[in-house]
Amino acid sequence: MENDYICIYMGRSEAQHRIEELKAILWENSRKYYVDNAPVMSDYEYDQLMHELEALEAAYPEYATDDSPTRRVGSDIDLSAGPATEINVRSDFAKVPHRYPMLSLGNTYNLAEIEEFAARAEKTLGTRFTYCCELKFDGTAICLTYRKGLLYRALTRGDGVVGDDVTENVRHIPNIPQRLAGTGYPDEFEIRGEILMPFESFNRLNAEREETGEPPFANPRNAASGSLKLMDPEEVGRRGLICTLYHIPDGSADFQTHDEALRAAASWGLPVSDKRELCDGIDGIEAFISKWETARKTLPYATDGIVIKINEMAFQRTLGYTAKSPRWAVAYKYKAEEALTPILSIDYQVGRTGAVTPVANLEPVQLSGTVVKRATLNNADWMEQLDLREHDYVYVEKGGEIIPKITRVERSKRTPGALRPLFPTTCPDCGAPLFRPEGEARWFCSNPDGCPTQIKGRLVHFLSRKAMNVIAGDATVEQMYALDLVRTPADFYDLTIPRLLMLDGWKEKSAQRFADSLRQSLSVPFERVLYAIGIRYVGEQTARDLARHFGSMDAIAAASKEDLLAVPEVGGVIAESIYRFFRDPVNLNMVARLRAAGLNMTVESPAERGSDALSGMTIVISGNFSVSRDEMKAMIERNGGKNSSSVSGKTTYLLAGSKPGPEKIKKAGELGIRVIGEDEFYALLPGKPEPDAIPEGDGQLSLF
Ligand code: NAD
Repeated sequence: MENDYICIYMGRSEAQHRIEELKAILWENSRKYYVDNAPVMSDYEYDQLMHELEALEAAYPEYATDDSPTRRVGSDIDLSAGPATEINVRSDFAKVPHRYPMLSLGNTYNLAEIEEFAARAEKTLGTRFTYCCELKFDGTAICLTYRKGLLYRALTRGDGVVGDDVTENVRHIPNIPQRLAGTGYPDEFEIRGEILMPFESFNRLNAEREETGEPPFANPRNAASGSLKLMDPEEVGRRGLICTLYHIPDGSADFQTHDEALRAAASWGLPVSDKRELCDGIDGIEAFISKWETARKTLPYATDGIVIKINEMAFQRTLGYTAKSPRWAVAYKYKAEEALTPILSIDYQVGRTGAVTPVANLEPVQLSGTVVKRATLNNADWMEQLDLREHDYVYVEKGGEIIPKITRVERSKRTPGALRPLFPTTCPDCGAPLFRPEGEARWFCSNPDGCPTQIKGRLVHFLSRKAMNVIAGDATVEQMYALDLVRTPADFYDLTIPRLLMLDGWKEKSAQRFADSLRQSLSVPFERVLYAIGIRYVGEQTARDLARHFGSMDAIAAASKEDLLAVPEVGGVIAESIYRFFRDPVNLNMVARLRAAGLNMTVESPAERGSDALSGMTIVISGNFSVSRDEMKAMIERNGGKNSSSVSGKTTYLLAGSKPGPEKIKKAGELGIRVIGEDEFYALLPGKPEPDAIPEGDGQLSLF
């Protein structure tokens, strides 16, 4: 590899000092990347520092030690107190030694170094051979073992020698077969690949995390890696992960070539990418690299380069391994597209949970086909790490992530004497002091009950589709707030028609529609009420788990932290947050008023508890509903019905939400299967209160 990373005038002691410094920086960032899943440095920058260390160690071998990150695989094993990004992860997975070490790959961003790799291989092997070019999938590595055709074990890469046993979680990733198809597979073998989070799942997950106040994942790789270590295997299943496999270790099965091994794996039903090509020289490799440089942008998941492997197993053996990576393979990494532009100003935005995010307003610049005007600066730590000054020129990058990110500063363009931007000490919205909870990278407004942005955010969340599902947009809530009609969710239920008519453009009809929608919200099951009241970190799933475990709001409010920790999905951070919520008189008063308004405070209705109303029925669901599809399926099962994914002669009903699949509707029509809507479905269940059964109010004090 090229050696332009060392300053030739560097003295011996200076080199030693720099080696130590680089080792510390790289290990620290390796932990942030692999364990916390919250990197603060770009991959390119990390790789440049790694190459600098490699070059220094080559020039001064007396300072190269075995504990150097150049000789060790970055480890995903968590040996510390707790991760930063994911609050429900486990760190106590069984540690299982790998049968064959799981190594890294040598990488470069430079075509000349790929040419050097090919020239070296050709020289060492001295005969004709082939290369297999593949996509470099940007997820987290996994090693699967199949025994007698059944999935036996799944290990993470760990530190390359020992991995975390995540078998139970991996069983919930839909495209990983539990049982192999076809014939001819070895009695026991290993196959390796990558767990990926497609962009669609990633965007959905981050939107949900924003809603519940959890920090979003920086990119799909971090999200996949964090998801794989979750405590609850079913939650792993809901994260929308996929797997792609690309390597059967030599010794684990008997094949002449790598390509032959992958073809066999595909014939056994394993998910192997077909986006690979064989070629016999550098021209073929370069053509593959240039083809995928643009084509990869149309893939539904992230890739960060190309992997070039020697195809013949015998030649792989000849070339062998270094301590960290095979000599028979190399990765060519695509540099994330970036643009250089000056910062015009910085806004500090307050979210629903009170977290303050710095956002840079940029001189508009073209990047990956769109004009970028704003980019996130994440948090105060990141600004510090960038060593940012006012009006600095910055590099903006759009990788797997949706929001453009500022990755580094161009110091040569800095105005002399430019000042550091001052992170506010008070809330930019309400002026209350900011505080930073222990272990958090973000600052928070200390005035949750008086800060308008937080109050409005909580009101919008309360009415949202997955919570109380009341028809009202953000603008309506904004107006209601401005007119002093609502301050807490309980205020919605005290609104009267005359008061609603104060809203700009509202007539009898719109007011009545809102009132009807609010009245219907009284039949929303308890688990969604629990989600709606906006306890930090209590998302849809946690609310469901808590509701099932405790059965009522009172039981949750009275629970000790230990009681809360007994719920499988609830870790320390969530338990603390719930416990504190119910010790705050403002929250207790809100809950009491919601109870008085008639909201469900217990898992009481037979529909929630379960019945045999659907026994003997097979139901196919299609489209979107007011509750999540998983919740719909769970409701069918709780009431004795069976879910099926395809319409057939055995189907009792096709339950169609909005945007149902046209194929399913057509098939149901052909087979004479009844198509029912959500309301009709609820009517099949016992104990669902009819809107008419809810008492009418006096029209003055409340809407009903
Ligand atoms: P890597 O990601 O560069 O390459 C090795 C990995 O590629 C393998 O372990 C495998 O999981 C994966 N891979 C994907 N497709 C593959 C295919 N077709 N065939 C074989 N392997 C394939 O190496 P790494 O050791 O996992 O990670 C090191 C890299 O991670 C660094 O080069 C850096 O870019 C990044 N990193 C970044 C930071 C940061 O702070 N930004 C910190 C640590 C590491």
